[in-house]
Amino acid sequence: MLLLTRVVLLSALCAAALGCPRIISRSQWRARTPRSRVPLRTPVPYVIIHHTAGNRCYTQASCSEQVRGIQNYHINKRGWSDIGYNFLIGEDGNVYEGRGWSTRGAHAKNWNSRSLGFSFLGTFTNGVPNAAALNAARSLIQCAVSKGFLSRSYTLKGHRNVSLTSCPGNDLYRVIRQWARFKL
Ligand SMILES: [Zn+2]
Repeated sequence: MLLLTRVVLLSALCAAALGCPRIISRSQWRARTPRSRVPLRTPVPYVIIHHTAGNRCYTQASCSEQVRGIQNYHINKRGWSDIGYNFLIGEDGNVYEGRGWSTRGAHAKNWNSRSLGFSFLGTFTNGVPNAAALNAARSLIQCAVSKGFLSRSYTLKGHRNVSLTSCPGNDLYRVIRQWARFKL
């Protein structure tokens, strides 16, 4: 039992050391097939943080359900080819693959071709994401750099810094303003 705990802990540490969080693939959350894809030229110089402005979620099952709902909304109501974000982050500590690393997103008008869009699942106007989600997001940024999809000299922005929107919510915005490489 003790040995098993050690093995689990060690593998968690190794995964963290590589700088990539646990990413739930599109097939794992049962994504619809995109109508089309435009390649993203990487590494991009910007990462843009959003919130989904929907419900928070704390389990893989409920976060997957949220992500499916957002994909349906973006395709059916917005008329987009797929879910808009490159990745989404749940308070279960998992990251959910949206358009992924190599497909241009639809998350920040005029910025999509030069950024990755990461969105926290939930509404963070009052209240911040839990530590699991914040850690997953920071790890995802490091992962993007180490995989060569985000420039080493990247700039971090909130959606409100590039568009007329309150996204990613006042409280979450206060948090990301303190993160490395944030610039207005
Ligand atoms: Zn946004």
